[in-house]
Amino acid sequence: MSSELAWEKRQFGHRARLALMPAQARLLDDQAHAARTTWNLLHDLWTMTPKCQRSLSRMDAAVRRARKEIEWLGVLPAQAAQAVLKTYVQAWKNCWDGRAEEPNFKARIRTVMSVDIPQGRDLNITRVHRRWDMVNIPKIGRARFRWTRDLPVGKHANKENRITGARLVKDALGWHIAFRVQTLEVMPEPHQGPEVGIGAGVNLPLALSDSNHQDHGRHARTEGGKADRDKWLTAEEKAKLLRLEQRAAHRKSFRKPKEHSSNRLRNTYDQIKQLRATATRRAADWQHKTTTNLARTYGTVVVEALNIANMVKSAKGTIEQPGKNVAQKSGLNRSISQEAWGRTVTMLTYKTARYGGTLHKVPAPNTSLRCSACGFITPGSREDQATFVCKNRDCGWSGHADWNAARNVLHLYRMGRALIPAAGRAVVRRTRGVKPTTAR
Ligand SMILES: [Zn+2]
Repeated sequence: MSSELAWEKRQFGHRARLALMPAQARLLDDQAHAARTTWNLLHDLWTMTPKCQRSLSRMDAAVRRARKEIEWLGVLPAQAAQAVLKTYVQAWKNCWDGRAEEPNFKARIRTVMSVDIPQGRDLNITRVHRRWDMVNIPKIGRARFRWTRDLPVGKHANKENRITGARLVKDALGWHIAFRVQTLEVMPEPHQGPEVGIGAGVNLPLALSDSNHQDHGRHARTEGGKADRDKWLTAEEKAKLLRLEQRAAHRKSFRKPKEHSSNRLRNTYDQIKQLRATATRRAADWQHKTTTNLARTYGTVVVEALNIANMVKSAKGTIEQPGKNVAQKSGLNRSISQEAWGRTVTMLTYKTARYGGTLHKVPAPNTSLRCSACGFITPGSREDQATFVCKNRDCGWSGHADWNAARNVLHLYRMGRALIPAAGRAVVRRTRGVKPTTAR
């Protein structure tokens, strides 16, 4: 063993649920609304200021003045207001660099409620229990959060290992805190594990080329053959969801046009959202566990470079050219987006890097049509979603369609068709001022 270890700086996030008291939650809601309004005011100011007069100092002065003069904007801590300005400016930079569309106003109902705590020292985290920690939230006070992994706080914190900030985010299940953590760790040794190809399956969530498939045992389809969008819920929860949806539809039927939703209707909507959030959380949990397992086991992971947005979009078609079999395809699309392939790839990207492995992407076309045994694309080989029987008379290989695709993915990699040579954040660099095709 060599004594010289290579160290690398690692930045990651850690999300924990906050246990707030009702009064604290209300205060935090007010802060989030103030943050959203600050954004909208900044956008208003930006768009009405002539181009030659737009400047950061001018925007900054406006934020300071607004916080002083408008009482309910003042509930937002000064640091958080500065963070809004910083995010707004970054949004324009992302747009100019072609990574995102133009920033716009944030609507009350569609916006995720969030407040930033840009400075880690404001958090003042202390351990109070084996399972609980206390964190300081500016202008709110102390709040508990669940301790589920070791974070560099207290005597474990130093210049290299520390929490640099946090963001408070609200979803249907309440307020959460997402820490920004920075650590210095020993660089992992190159992973010597085997190679594996992974197919984004429709019937198997993750089909592996060595037939070590990863399945969560929840069927993508109901008995009727329809895509089951609530497969992460139990039978009782599904029944409850159905009841709630019926109740919501019933209450909605009394609503006159242009009338606000009643409190009862909104309450029902909230309950539906909570169930959906629970399902999402279960899916993400399974993904986390599975991808960690894969990154530990395999040294080289190869995935399909799918463009989910295009696949889902293509079913509907355009007004001039409407899509064919829209309902059938959109069912397929739903099961694709539900498996959240993009999120799986993101997780695999950073997890393989962490365990010293590499992630490669190969172009997707025909991986589901080509026979992985003989290498030919013979029409009709894919009998249905699940089975693949090669119609090439000299071959006749048969197997699971998703497994076949996974084997093809690995084959493409071995042929040197990888798009991205190593794991890492691959940002498509565009020249300044050129908009991406999506920003129309
Ligand atoms: Zn064949």
